[in-house]
Parts: sequence; structure tokens; C-alpha cells
Amino acid sequence: MAEQILQVEHLEKYYQKKYVLHDINFHVDKGEVVTLLGPSGSGKSTLIRCLNGLEEYQQGTITFEGEQINPTEKNWQQIRQKIGMVFQSYDLFPNLTVMDNILLGPTKVQKQDKFAAKKEALDLLERVGLEDYANAYPRELSGGQKQRVAIVRALALHPDFMLFDEVTASLDPEMVRGILNIIQDLADVDHMTMIVVTHEMNFAQQIADRVIFLEDGHILEQTPSKQFFSATQTKRAQAFLDSMD
Ligand code: ADP
Ligand code: MG
Repeated sequence: MAEQILQVEHLEKYYQKKYVLHDINFHVDKGEVVTLLGPSGSGKSTLIRCLNGLEEYQQGTITFEGEQINPTEKNWQQIRQKIGMVFQSYDLFPNLTVMDNILLGPTKVQKQDKFAAKKEALDLLERVGLEDYANAYPRELSGGQKQRVAIVRALALHPDFMLFDEVTASLDPEMVRGILNIIQDLADVDHMTMIVVTHEMNFAQQIADRVIFLEDGHILEQTPSKQFFSATQTKRAQAFLDSMD
């Protein structure tokens, strides 16, 4: 049996009386790529944020590598070190160079050796085609370049699991492919375990082992990718796919 890295059981999240996530159950195997699809407002970002300990929840359990993720528990900061996250907005520190943005977590939080961390950062920058930008400031970069730095910054922390939440949504169309290629490469070459939220259906089809389809805070389908994209199990998911063409 494949080794599970993440289990989510009976997760419930609500704001006042409004349910945002309702009885969410799924697991992710080591090395698996899950794409999380669903209409706007269905709860995708909220779920991703719960998985990274950024959001409190009311019921259920999230277990990552055998330990519970719950922002009200003391150990969540430590567990979270192993979970990398990249969002739609890059959130780089504007007053720090690319290199210093990348090194902040590894050297200040994780206390990695500075010399080794810098060498690794340079290797990662080269991998995403930004080796000449180590000393640049975020304002000197395009959106696509900033997003590459955000990905490198997450990878520099040596995550076991990556969460990508619509990382190409605010990019110019010509920037999108390059970012998607980097994510694809992480799957193919590094066998990185990840959950990817995306509106790029061709990409979702290409990269996903499994699709989780969310609507109104419920999981309507969890289907192997091939099956989902050839014949969804629900009419609602099919209507969603049709609307994305
Ligand atoms: P998605 O990422 O799928 O578009 P979100 O997770 O962002 O969906 O939002 C799910 C639902 O939760 C939406 O109805 C949204 O309005 C609501 N929501 C998100 N954040 C908050 C908040 N801080 N307070 C109240 N409602 C929220
Ligand atoms: Mg969202």
C-alpha cells in the first residue's frame, strides 16, 4: 500500500453560522499529485489554508506525517516547516533582495548553514532560470519572475509537501506556461507530493493523479484524474468542466 502523508477526517469549518467546509474527508499518498477543483467560493483556499495551519477549524482532524495540524496546538509551527505553500500573490519582502527573501526562512527560522543555504538557493534560482537575479529587488521583477522566486523560497525550506493555490491566476498569459512547467518538473523529477488548485484545466489533467472536486464546502467527487476528465461522476462537476472550455 502507498504511504499516506496526509489524512483529513470529518473537517468542519464555519464562520459564525456560515459553513465553509463541511465533513471533508480525504488523504494524500506520498508522491501523489492531487488537484483541487471547484467553482469560486467553494472553499478551496480555505481548505488549503487549514492544511497549512493558517486557519483554525471547528471539528475534525488533519494529520500530516503522523502529527496533528491544528493552529491552536503548540507544535504546528514546527510541523508546518515541512509544508510549502505558494499563493496567487507572491508576498515577497520588497526591501530585501531575491537572495535575502529566499534565505530568510532557511537561515533565520530553520538555522540552516548559511553557506550551504546560499549555494542551494543559487542552484534553485538556476533551475527556474533566475540565476542572474539573486541581487535584484522584487520591484525589478515581472510577475512571473516573482512567482518563481516565491516557489524557490518555499523549496529552500525542504518541504515534503507543497500546496499551490492558483499561482498563475494573476499572471499575464505568456508567463503562465513557465510557472506550470516548474510545477510539472517538481512532480516528474522530484516526485514532490502536492495539492494544486488551478483554473488551467489542461494543466490539471496533465499533472493530476487524482481530482478532488469541491462545491459549497462539500467534496462532491474524488476521482482518478483520467476518469474525471473522461467522465465525471456528477453532473455538477461536468457542468464545471464544460464552463472552463
Ligand atoms: P475558493 O478559494 O474556492 O474561491 P474560499 O475558500 O476563498 O473559496 O471561500 C469559501 C467561502 O468562505 C466563500 O463563501 C467566502 O466568502 C467565505 N470566506 C472566506 N474567508 C472568509 C472570512 N474571513 N470570513 C467570512 N467568510 C469567509
Ligand atoms: Mg481561492
